[in-house]
Amino acid sequence: MSGKPRAATGLKEYLRRFGPALVGTAFLPVCLLLAPLGCASGGGDQAASGPLPVNEAAALQAAARHHSASTPMGQVGAGVGQLPAPPPPPMRVPVATPPHDDLAGAAVQTADAAILEGPAAAAVAGTGTLVLYDTTGQWGFLGEMYAEQVANLVSHFGTWKAEPVASYVAGQMNAYAAVVYVGSTYGEPMPKAFLDDVHAGAVPVLWMYDNIWQLTAEFANLNVNFATTMGWNWTGFDTSTLAGVNYKSTLLTRDPLNTASGLMGTSVTTATVVATAVRSDGSTLPWAVRSGNLTYIGEIPFSYVGPNDRYLIFADMLYDLLKPAAATRHRALVRIEDVGPDADPTELKAVADALYARRIPFSIATYPGYRDPLGAYNNGVAQSYDLASRPTVVSALKYMQARGGTIIMHGYTHQYSNVKNPYSGVSADDCEFYLAYVNATNSVVFTTPVPGDSRTWAAGRVTSGLAAFKAAGLAAPTIWETPHYAASAADYPAFVSAFAKRYERVFYFPGLLSGAAPDYTRINGQFFPYLVKDLYGSPVIPENLGNVEPVPVNNYPARLPADILATATCNLVIRDGIASFFYHPYLGTAYLTQILDGLTAQGWTFVAAGSVVD
Ligand SMILES: [Zn+2]
Repeated sequence: MSGKPRAATGLKEYLRRFGPALVGTAFLPVCLLLAPLGCASGGGDQAASGPLPVNEAAALQAAARHHSASTPMGQVGAGVGQLPAPPPPPMRVPVATPPHDDLAGAAVQTADAAILEGPAAAAVAGTGTLVLYDTTGQWGFLGEMYAEQVANLVSHFGTWKAEPVASYVAGQMNAYAAVVYVGSTYGEPMPKAFLDDVHAGAVPVLWMYDNIWQLTAEFANLNVNFATTMGWNWTGFDTSTLAGVNYKSTLLTRDPLNTASGLMGTSVTTATVVATAVRSDGSTLPWAVRSGNLTYIGEIPFSYVGPNDRYLIFADMLYDLLKPAAATRHRALVRIEDVGPDADPTELKAVADALYARRIPFSIATYPGYRDPLGAYNNGVAQSYDLASRPTVVSALKYMQARGGTIIMHGYTHQYSNVKNPYSGVSADDCEFYLAYVNATNSVVFTTPVPGDSRTWAAGRVTSGLAAFKAAGLAAPTIWETPHYAASAADYPAFVSAFAKRYERVFYFPGLLSGAAPDYTRINGQFFPYLVKDLYGSPVIPENLGNVEPVPVNNYPARLPADILATATCNLVIRDGIASFFYHPYLGTAYLTQILDGLTAQGWTFVAAGSVVD
């Protein structure tokens, strides 16, 4: 391996709000292919047998403990901003409260009339997705964060609107093709109008986790037996440790940090079990069930998400709601990473040759300015130069372009100012658009936007970078990738306005749905298994497999081709998804070709990133 010494690039994500002591969790490393499992099975016959109170102090303690998030994955940003799970439920078997007639001015009379008439048969089908989320209670902010993730994913299928469930008004869902409700607050006051419209069943509804008992109680109010009508019922929270969730004969992981929040148990008679949770002892219980237009998932699959996570099940289930006729398609992407003016032309040509030999198109994540303000790699003497002053590197880039490479812009200098952020101050080591440091336990912690951060400042970085490409005789890239996948809510709009697409994982923050000022104490990181048009407003090409890291860094385990291929296998559960990884040319070509050939053998077809339009 040649090239300059590299600082560790595996950044650990941190939700500062949830506590500073981060424990490196070894994520469950592979998803296992299982023999197909029978998917029947109810959760037993536990009729609501009365509340089982959980000690509140213990629950809060557990919540605090498991709200210190840690991130289990390689390269910077790969798994960044992991969301915590909701706090443990105060009761394992909830007691329903009466629906709230008075919320949001819901027109109760109208809703009742609609029920008497039954579903709005032959009504004009709505379009887009209505995303509803909880807002009350100590952890109410989590509702918006989960809803941000839902909104990004459903954007793959079209338009959407997100709002607090409390704002729902009677008949509102009829304008949409589907509804997703995120039940993150136990006992969220829910409008009767919403419950009644779900009961009416005219529009597909995907309901997650809490408050399903409010729906069944409303069925009872309407003299409808939920269990016999729907063919399933909830039973109570199951806090077993899970080995994973089985879906399409693939076992997806579920981080044990989710255990305390529980999985709502269900007893199933005639409903369809969509996915099955597997306990550590091998026994099973339904994870998601569907009956008619109602689909229910017993948890919120956005907490402690890892690369092989049950999050992927949710991503695929959205096809059932929003694009049921989608044809199966498995495309792959590869991006050559961190190519700057300091690159080794020989290494660049070697990877280009390996890719071209297979006729595999690829992207080249390029930063046009090299900076080492502290002289970290130059005996204490600062260095600064741009692509134009390295003609052999420019020639190598053109060599790559001639063999199927597309240059995308990966920041201007891929470092910030003249400080360590977090490693060395040197291009490709450091963050450019967000502050980070390495803490006492060797984990990377993201803190705040950089001093002087603003949309104008970020736009200026972009402008300077584009000028540096031009000065080197290279066309302006049209695709952007944020260095280390880390920027502020002020920066992303600058990238959106300057580039047709982005190609990355992303930081989101509370406030993006509500319109409040972004809350930088709570980072909401997300990766995508398919193209989305995200909250910042541009198409985002996915990167979901991570990269090769031969040795552990910053409390992340090493990540080798076998790990990347295992993650790709998990992604095969998505009927029209993308397997996308990136690769550092200084690693040589052996790992690269293992991954390329392995993905091809799995049935993935490599395409150019720019060709991904849906
Ligand atoms: Zn980078």
